[in-house]
Amino acid sequence: MADVVVDLRQVHAGYGDVVVLRDVSVTVAAGEVVALLGPNGAGKTTTLRAISGLLAPTAGSIEVCGRPTAGMAPHRVALLGVGHVPEERALFADLTAEENLRLGLRGTRAERRAARSRALDLFPELGRLLGRRAGSLSGGEQQMLSLARALAGAPKCLLVDELSLGLAPVIVERLLPIVRRIATEGGVGVLVVEQHVRMALSVADRAVVLSHGRVTLDGTAAEVAAAADALEASYLGGDATGPR
Ligand code: ATP
Repeated sequence: MADVVVDLRQVHAGYGDVVVLRDVSVTVAAGEVVALLGPNGAGKTTTLRAISGLLAPTAGSIEVCGRPTAGMAPHRVALLGVGHVPEERALFADLTAEENLRLGLRGTRAERRAARSRALDLFPELGRLLGRRAGSLSGGEQQMLSLARALAGAPKCLLVDELSLGLAPVIVERLLPIVRRIATEGGVGVLVVEQHVRMALSVADRAVVLSHGRVTLDGTAAEVAAAADALEASYLGGDATGPR
C-alpha cells in the first residue's frame, strides 16, 4: 500500500462540552481520493478541522505523513504537508487572484515557481484571471483559485470541504476530475467532503460515511455506491428523493 498521509485513530473531538466526533478512524494514502460523506451536522467539517490542527482531539491520535500532530499549531501541521480548502474558501477578496495564489507558495524560489506552474496547469482558466480581484470572480473561479492556492504549498494531503458548495453541477463535474488528477498525477492523498454523493464516488477510490459523529461505513467507492440509495435517503430522514 502507498504511504499513508493521514491516519486518524479513534478520534474524539468537539466544541467545549459538545462531543461531535466519536471514535472516528480514517486513513488516506498517497495518490488516493477518499470521499467523506454524511448528512448535515455529521461531523465532516469537524474531521477536517481536527486533521489540520484547528481543533484538538480529546482522545485518539492523528498522524500526518507518519508524524503525530498532537499539540501542533495549524501552521506546523500545514508544514507537514496538509493543504486545507475550507468550506468558505477563505480567499482575500480585495487581493488579486495572483496575490492569493502567491500566499500559498512555499519553499525555495524554484520550488515556488514549479508549484505555481503546476497549479496553473491544472486550472488553465486562472491564467487570464490572475490580475482580477478574487472577490470579483465567480463561485467556480473562486473554488479553482482556492484549490490552486492549496496546491501551491505542494501538499502531501489535500483536504477539500464541500467542493460543490454554491456551484452549478456542471462546474462540479469539471472540478471533480481535476481533484482525481491531483491524486493520480501528483501523488497527493485527497480527502474530499461532498454533498453530491454519486459524483464524489465517481472519482473516489474509497469513501467513509459519518453519521452523528461516528463512522457508519468505510469501504471502496463501489461498496459505498451500492449503499448510496439508503445513504441518500438517510440524509433527509428517510425521504428517498434526497440530494443528488
Ligand atoms: P455540514 O454539511 O452541515 O457542514 P458537517 O458534517 O460538516 O455538516 P460539522 O460542521 O462538522 O458537520 O458539525 C458537526 C456538529 O458540530 C454540528 O452539530 C454542529 O452544529 C456542531 N458545531 C460545528 N461547529 C461548531 C462550533 N464552532 N461550536 C459548537 N458546535 C459546533
